[in-house]
Amino acid sequence: MNTRKKRLAIVGNGMATCRLLDELLQRGALHRYEVEIFGGERGGAYNRILLSKVLGGDDPDAIVTKPPAWYAARGVTLHDGVSVRRLDTTAKLVETADGTHHRYDVAVLATGSQPLVPPLDGMTTDDGELRPGVFIYRTMEDCLKMRAHARAGDNAVVLGGGLLGLEAAKVLSDGGLHVTVVHAARTLMNAQLDELGGEMLERQIESHGIFVRTGRTVEAVLGADAVDGVRLDDDKTLAADMLVLACGVRPQVEVARASGLPINKGIVVNDTLATEVPGVYAIGECAEHGGRTYGIVSPAWEQAAILADVLTGANPQARYRGSKVYTRLKVAGIDVASMGRIDPELDSDEVIQVVETRRGAYRKLVARGRTLVGAMLVGNTAAAANLVQLFDRGDLLPEDPLEALCPGASLGGDARADRTVCNCNKVSEASLREAISCGAASVEALCLATRAGTGCGSCKTELAQLLARHAPAAKRVVAA
Ligand SMILES: Cc1cc2nc3c(=O)[nH]c(=O)nc-3n(C[C@H](O)[C@H](O)[C@H](O)COP(=O)(O)OP(=O)(O)OC[C@H]3O[C@@H](n4cnc5c(N)ncnc54)[C@H](O)[C@@H]3O)c2cc1C
Repeated sequence: MNTRKKRLAIVGNGMATCRLLDELLQRGALHRYEVEIFGGERGGAYNRILLSKVLGGDDPDAIVTKPPAWYAARGVTLHDGVSVRRLDTTAKLVETADGTHHRYDVAVLATGSQPLVPPLDGMTTDDGELRPGVFIYRTMEDCLKMRAHARAGDNAVVLGGGLLGLEAAKVLSDGGLHVTVVHAARTLMNAQLDELGGEMLERQIESHGIFVRTGRTVEAVLGADAVDGVRLDDDKTLAADMLVLACGVRPQVEVARASGLPINKGIVVNDTLATEVPGVYAIGECAEHGGRTYGIVSPAWEQAAILADVLTGANPQARYRGSKVYTRLKVAGIDVASMGRIDPELDSDEVIQVVETRRGAYRKLVARGRTLVGAMLVGNTAAAANLVQLFDRGDLLPEDPLEALCPGASLGGDARADRTVCNCNKVSEASLREAISCGAASVEALCLATRAGTGCGSCKTELAQLLARHAPAAKRVVAA
């Protein structure tokens, strides 16, 4: 029997790879694979979702999930700061941008997404680089550059009023900058909210001191050397010491293209996350499954678990069937959640809306029979946990679907214990209570035992509440 370990090469060291490593290790994969990782960014893996904390001034190390020593201690080879140019899928070689070659038996592409950069006049220097003062918002390096540039009292323009643009705008505004968000669509977050939802969100954003220009875009970046303004498409100008581009992302498929892999929007994979080329897989934001690509982390993590099952043989029948997407705006003081369809699709679809004009809150769901096909919440997300569970698991809506918009009304007893508390990692209240009864006595211990709270971290307050309710008082450690 051949006992030689196979060589597993992973391209990209982002959030999908970080989870894939954990899943592989859990299944004892290092007995059968020598793992070699090529990461375009310097350093170990970090939680990209928490970049806004770094932009806001936190220590970058606080969001690092695997420092370089983690890899070395486990015999995993990390080539950080090394970009891959292509795979030679015939000779089974990884070719790096600096011309070195590395053998592989199995390769995984986890190259994520790249920000969309619109071609604006005056945006780049002669050598094609972004001008100082113009920023994208994707990596630790982007955030550190942005925070080094931003000064209280400066003017910032954020181009793009989606999830990332609003997040960046709020952090900069909290840092004392005068911030204007310019958004091409008529209303903010138009991919996740209908027009009424977008308008209500705009009022909330403005109430935090941020200015919003919807239905407009930036045409040119102004200033001789330093950026001093932007020109909008109505010829008006806005003073700006910095411009942040948050115009969306597209799957990063350059390595796949150069390797001759089938690409559509993303790298096309089947239910085992395999590409058409034997031995080459793709997961995370670069992968396209069932005609869909994803821009949030939970699908990447679901894919990582399936791929680990497949590659280690722990469960050769494991199949990825697609993910249901739930998004939340994680901006302090502004509550927004959205899932599935935001408008009816069929004549028979039922729409239920609750609008609280004075409170500035809006709740809406779209039902098909007794199935929830979409929902959005602005200004009051108390019903989000109920709705996510109904949406994710396809549970039947209450006879009166209005109840699903009213927190607590439709879930009681067992159903409540079964509800999902951490949406990034899909951890239920029942699993958390189980971990508490097995001895997890602090939020950190709960996170470690269940992975809850290790994505966007927004459920940590609820973890603390569950601990307060269910941990034996003698054992409880209160700090969240
Ligand atoms: C500011 C910000 C906030 C976010 N907030 C949320 C949120 O609240 N909730 C949520 O679910 N998601 C959020 N996301 C999205 C989430 O971060 C992504 O879904 C997740 O990171 C995807 O993981 P990935 O591994 O596919 O891609 P990435 O994490 O982007 O990792 C891909 C890695 O591959 C590397 N790479 C690319 N090409 C090459 C190459 N040729 N050679 C070597 N390396 C290469 C890249 O440098 C990168 O490090 C946010 C993203 C950002 C930027």
